[in-house]
Amino acid sequence: MNITVDGVVLRSVNYKESDKILTVLTRERGKITVKAQGARRKSSRLGSLSQPFCYAEMSLFEQGGRYTLDDGFVKAQFYGLTTDIEKMGLASYLAQVLLGEPEESAVDDDLMRLTLNSFYAIEKGMFTQAAIKAAFELRYMAICGYAPDLLECTACGESTSGYINLESGMLMCRDCLRAPGYNDYYLDASALEAARYIIDCDLKRLFSFVIPEQSMALLSRFCEAYLLDKTEQGYKALDFYKSLFPQEGSVK
Ligand SMILES: [Zn+2]
Repeated sequence: MNITVDGVVLRSVNYKESDKILTVLTRERGKITVKAQGARRKSSRLGSLSQPFCYAEMSLFEQGGRYTLDDGFVKAQFYGLTTDIEKMGLASYLAQVLLGEPEESAVDDDLMRLTLNSFYAIEKGMFTQAAIKAAFELRYMAICGYAPDLLECTACGESTSGYINLESGMLMCRDCLRAPGYNDYYLDASALEAARYIIDCDLKRLFSFVIPEQSMALLSRFCEAYLLDKTEQGYKALDFYKSLFPQEGSVK
């Protein structure tokens, strides 16, 4: 059966002499594995469609739940993500997070939009990479159903700033939580406001928040730790990305 999907390539692995095996996040079928036969031959029309981060309308042949790439046209190559090491580092980390989901992930339009908006923002350099990374991590968690409860301190109802517990995802203010543990991440007023914004805002405006550098550092630290805690895995691409900024990596 022939089908058409709107998809973005999260992973592209060489296979046999000239094939590629792609993992594609699609609007219609969630995440699927697609074989691109002969994609590494110079003459192949599947070459550009099989590049990492490529966003395309793809014509697939499906048989018994297996997909083969037949043809397609590129909607956005996101070529800029592969020519700059910092951009590539961040985009690869995002892709690895998306790949970490169960193989047969559900169809989710928000996930698709989050992915495309993030790749686009990284490529264009429209926002700081720290803002894109943190917003992706937290919104991704919200889409997966793990949004932390940032409304107010669970003990007293205070709502301007406080500690979020990684495990429970609940907020406690400084007065109520006198002895924060290693799992409690402090967000000052600006960082907390930004976190609330990231969880609820229109995806089109996901990265449009501006907060002081110190608050951004708190937000970054929390969003990364929260994602790592909830997904229960490490990401090689994250280690690589952080190795590009050794001076920041040492400040926790
Ligand atoms: Zn309180």
